[in-house]
Amino acid sequence: MATSAYTPDVFELATKAENLDPLTHDELRSVLELPEDRTLEAVTAAHRVRRRYFGDRVKLNYLVNLKSGLCPEDCSYCSQRLGSQADILTYTWLKPDEVRSAARSGIAAGAKRVCLVASGRGPTDRDVGRVADTIAAVREEQPNVEVCACLGLLSDGQAERLREAGADAYNHNLNTSGERYSEICTTHTFTDRVGTVQQATQAGLSPCSGLIAGMGENDSELVDALLELRSLNPDSVPVNFLIPFDGTPLAGTWELTPNRCLRILAATRLAFPDAEVRIAGGRELHLRGLQPLALHVANAIFLGDYLTSEGQPGQADVDLIHDAGFVVEGAGQDTLPTHRSAEVRARRRGAGTDLPPNA
Ligand code: SF4
Repeated sequence: MATSAYTPDVFELATKAENLDPLTHDELRSVLELPEDRTLEAVTAAHRVRRRYFGDRVKLNYLVNLKSGLCPEDCSYCSQRLGSQADILTYTWLKPDEVRSAARSGIAAGAKRVCLVASGRGPTDRDVGRVADTIAAVREEQPNVEVCACLGLLSDGQAERLREAGADAYNHNLNTSGERYSEICTTHTFTDRVGTVQQATQAGLSPCSGLIAGMGENDSELVDALLELRSLNPDSVPVNFLIPFDGTPLAGTWELTPNRCLRILAATRLAFPDAEVRIAGGRELHLRGLQPLALHVANAIFLGDYLTSEGQPGQADVDLIHDAGFVVEGAGQDTLPTHRSAEVRARRRGAGTDLPPNA
């Protein structure tokens, strides 16, 4: 693979990002290609951008897996996939009060957003009804918590129903570049994924979409994925580092080093200066002792456990934030900078209303 044409001044790239001037493919790739001994430069430059838009705040998100395993899709990275032999919990839909109780513990530990996730290709209309009841149950007890739903591919009208039920955000990751997508999944397409993120956005849900690094992609392909994500203008971008579960096709795929993870996060921050960059699955496994440095780039993490794997103790996550000199973002604080949160407007025209569509 050819390397990019020049050695970057990462601080110039940071200035560009601070000015919300989009970085090019070559520029982002050059950050990934920095040698190990320049990784801290990338962290320092990305940190400047992170400080500018997110100060010293770290947002805690808390995952609740509403339905675990037994998925008919074949995403090769996923422990819940068709034919997975991974030793994970499998269960069908949790009841609303079970979810409320799980959410309660995350919120008590400092989580500002609860992410309600279900395995599967996408929800039936009945499933959307279940999730609506679940959101109502969580909200009854925690009226101010942010709720993000992650239920797979959406059909027409489902995003609007989730919005009406009180969901604030919808997560659907692109995971990898469009060019590579068929290498990691054959049961749905990259275009399907893009379509769901767009549906969620059009329904007024805050779009959350990110990637999984460490699945055999090269630097250029990783930047392709970042730019494809950028074209969807997500408000939050989770960066997962592959957890190569035994019993899945990517078992034994260990490509990442802690320094590479930092460069991936730095490139993501420079690509998304004013969006929430969240370190997601694989944080402890791949960043290891460099987790505190990663907080200088990202402004959000998951508290506690992931969907099918255990994270470090929740208190260790909170200690990590304080020890690195950051503070846990409070329920009353806006995550996104004002210029950006003002862009998110719930749709009140077109489908489902008496007003004409915006076309
Ligand atoms: S659709 Fe979701 S739950 Fe199913 S295999 Fe893919 S990532 Fe896993």
